[in-house]
Amino acid sequence: MMPSRQDIILLSIVLLLALLMGWSSSAFGWSLFVAALIWSILQYREKTLLQRWSAKPISRPLNVLDSWQEVSLRLYQTIRTERTRHRRTLRQFKTFRSITDALPDAALIIDNAGNIENLNNAALQLFHLIPADRGNHLASLVRDPEFSALIRGQIDGDLIEFPSPFNEQIRLEARRIDMSLGQVSDRDTGLPYERSMILVRDVTELNRLLSMRQDFIANVSHELRTPLTVIVGYVESLLNEELDRETITELIGRLLSPTTRMRALVDDLLLLTRLESSPIPTDDEIAPVDMRLLIDTITADAEVLSGGRHDIEIAQSSNEQILGIDGELHSACLNLVTNAVRYSPDGGAIRVSWEDIPGGVRFAVEDHGMGIPKEHLSRITERFYRVDLAQSRVRGGTGLGLAIVKHVLKRHNTQLQVKSELAVGSTFFCDFPSTQIA
Ligand code: ADP
Repeated sequence: MMPSRQDIILLSIVLLLALLMGWSSSAFGWSLFVAALIWSILQYREKTLLQRWSAKPISRPLNVLDSWQEVSLRLYQTIRTERTRHRRTLRQFKTFRSITDALPDAALIIDNAGNIENLNNAALQLFHLIPADRGNHLASLVRDPEFSALIRGQIDGDLIEFPSPFNEQIRLEARRIDMSLGQVSDRDTGLPYERSMILVRDVTELNRLLSMRQDFIANVSHELRTPLTVIVGYVESLLNEELDRETITELIGRLLSPTTRMRALVDDLLLLTRLESSPIPTDDEIAPVDMRLLIDTITADAEVLSGGRHDIEIAQSSNEQILGIDGELHSACLNLVTNAVRYSPDGGAIRVSWEDIPGGVRFAVEDHGMGIPKEHLSRITERFYRVDLAQSRVRGGTGLGLAIVKHVLKRHNTQLQVKSELAVGSTFFCDFPSTQIA
């Protein structure tokens, strides 16, 4: 500690006073002793002030002598800067913590021995862990041979898929990310300290969607291939030059059925894709739909399909109009009525009704056809799901009709309901809520 100007002046005054006192009293020794005592008391007081302040260095230090003040203020500034830096680091840590806790995927930091250093909320939930599991070995808490190998860094590509140890149905994907911090050394071994991050996410739904997509592509290819094979067959026959004109005309006529089938399939696929990509209709698309007129039109179409082989009755007791999309409702209702015709034997009675019910209006199609076995009921609205594939093909179905109906009704705030009994008949109906009435 360098003596300041103030120290030198103060010391000079004390010495001067001592000299004056010594000169007037002729006791120089005593005067110098008193001067030294006063100086020591002043220094002691400053030291005590600094000591007291250092026990709780929150406010400014109280030292008055420049040399002491300089030191204490420098300490005060350093402490303040450190405190601000500490607060900022703490804030950043809290933000980081809340970000990792908000992540839907489990994130765990493990040391080179595989012990958990840190983990987020998703990890706690996914692996049924508790915060006190920090410090425990991850592989002993989540028991799976492949996961253990991943933790040890023995998996090529550091990526695995494995079943959840708590539920076989759940598939998990785990990734190991090396976070080696070469510059930091382990205190015990002196070796570079290495950490890894283990990220785990639930891929059950993703896998389901992927396999659905694969099934869908396989189904579409299969459905298109059947009529295409027929077409190719006829075209090859037509290439035979020895055919007479009558046979050629007949063969061309036979091309109509498979091509119509292909067009129906492509039309249904396009409609279904459009419906699935926009679950909520826009305001511009919606207008009052005259359901009485719509039912008359679809019933006339169904009569054509039936060719007079069925007894189709219309029962319209409601005059309500529906807020919706005419084309879509037409397509959905027509699908239900044509199914009733397709899956009813000749002479079967079909009833199409539009009736007021408490809280809304009901559209229903009732038939006395082949009916649907109970175990199939929950799946008939899936794309390409048929109770009897051969029957559906023979009767001109694409396997997409009820999937279209389901999506159209969903866009109109209602849902398809089915009551059916094998060999007795089926009723397909939907209840439009009063909010959907125009
Ligand atoms: P499809 O084009 O094959 O008729 P849908 O999606 O319209 O496809 O129907 C799916 C399956 O549900 C049909 O293949 C058929 O097995 C069954 N189904 C639909 N409607 C009826 C009905 N009214 N009576 C009996 N079975 C039906």
